[in-house]
Amino acid sequence: MLILKRTRLAASVAVCIAALTLGGCGTTTSSGAVGANRQQLLLVSSAEMNQMADEAYTELKTAAQKENKLNKNGTLLNRVRAIAARLQPQTSVFRADAPAWNWEVNVLDSEQLNAFCMPGGKIMFYSGLIEKLNLSDAEIAVVMGHEIAHALREHSREQMSQALAAQTAIGLGAALLGLGQGTADLAATGYQALIATKFSRSDESEADRIGLELSARAGYDPRAGVTLWQKMMQANGGAAPPELLSSHPASANRVREIESLLPTVMPLYEAAIR
Ligand SMILES: [Zn+2]
Repeated sequence: MLILKRTRLAASVAVCIAALTLGGCGTTTSSGAVGANRQQLLLVSSAEMNQMADEAYTELKTAAQKENKLNKNGTLLNRVRAIAARLQPQTSVFRADAPAWNWEVNVLDSEQLNAFCMPGGKIMFYSGLIEKLNLSDAEIAVVMGHEIAHALREHSREQMSQALAAQTAIGLGAALLGLGQGTADLAATGYQALIATKFSRSDESEADRIGLELSARAGYDPRAGVTLWQKMMQANGGAAPPELLSSHPASANRVREIESLLPTVMPLYEAAIR
């Protein structure tokens, strides 16, 4: 029990030391109309994250190309890219640097209901998500806005920072207790966090808020957020739960939260289409 307590103490001391030495707390975005001001633990640099994302994204594209599954449907690709082109300038509301990111948008020919935006603006849409759920442009914009929001808020970087802090804490704690320092494979942890990211509920909520504002400002009806998640809930009833839903739970609660944001974002939409 005593050892447990000392380990925990050493761990929290180590996290503080790591945060202080590496200068790690801050916030990645401005709050926008919907508000997102939470302080974030940021121990890994954006540049490191973006490089890792670039490599993972290139790997995915190369593999898809080999199987002739990259951008097979030109009409669908153009549609998705046109929506991205309208959303991207709106990111300046949340961070000034984002419109000039090296954005990339591709469509993977796949049955899966999935989409993501890697750090630095590397977007991949899975054709199954759009085709199986018969998504409207506004619904695609809401999904894309949500995924872009994860990149703007640098949720993956935050998650990796937390993993790094935990591992540093374990190593330091063990050393303080004279147990010897375990070798931590940080790179492996990082890669895993990037590829199989499961965001926390609060990350999800932030991404919903920011994504809805991005869509509204780009002139897409934010009420599509409600129909989108209703479609997702229906898809969830199927035999195999869709990929996106394992990290993005579709629930009545989520729909209610989105509905509660509509009074804030509808005026932005109305102004955009005027
Ligand atoms: Zn998400």
